[in-house]
Amino acid sequence: MTHRGRNSVYCPFCRNPDSRVVDSRMADDGSAIRRRRQCPECGRRFTTVETTSLSVIKRSGVGEPFSRSKVINGVRKACQGRPVSEDDLALLAQEVEENIRASGAAEIDAHEVGLIILGPLQKLDKVAYLRFASVYQAFESLEDFESAIALLRHEAEVEAKGADAKRSEGKSSEKSPL
Ligand SMILES: [Zn+2]
Repeated sequence: MTHRGRNSVYCPFCRNPDSRVVDSRMADDGSAIRRRRQCPECGRRFTTVETTSLSVIKRSGVGEPFSRSKVINGVRKACQGRPVSEDDLALLAQEVEENIRASGAAEIDAHEVGLIILGPLQKLDKVAYLRFASVYQAFESLEDFESAIALLRHEAEVEAKGADAKRSEGKSSEKSPL
């Protein structure tokens, strides 16, 4: 595939080297933009789809296209025996891709993809998160697990406090059950 300048899309009907964008729509997952174009020469309309390429650079230095199924395969093992469905995994992979694309980068290190996975995985299942983090961040001792768990507990407490604060906004007369 050859890349032309953004503003010089040839009309497929009369080969006029210019066209006007009449409508742009982002795909649901943010991976592509559909543009409805009109040729100022012959007046006919056509659609182009622009996809932004996203490469994952492996440790070997080799780049490969980002793939959601690779993300899913990467976390599936950590989710074994956990209440995590295929839909959950698909959503996680989508969130990971959206996070990466939101950064606007065309390439990302495989290691960074792992770091990005940790966020949504932690929300999805704490045990799977610990398993994944222990392999991914190469936990070597019980202390590594302890500090990761302590961090999870701390975040859970902060979240619970936030939720309590929200609840008490509405019903200020009610006391917390604790
Ligand atoms: Zn034309």
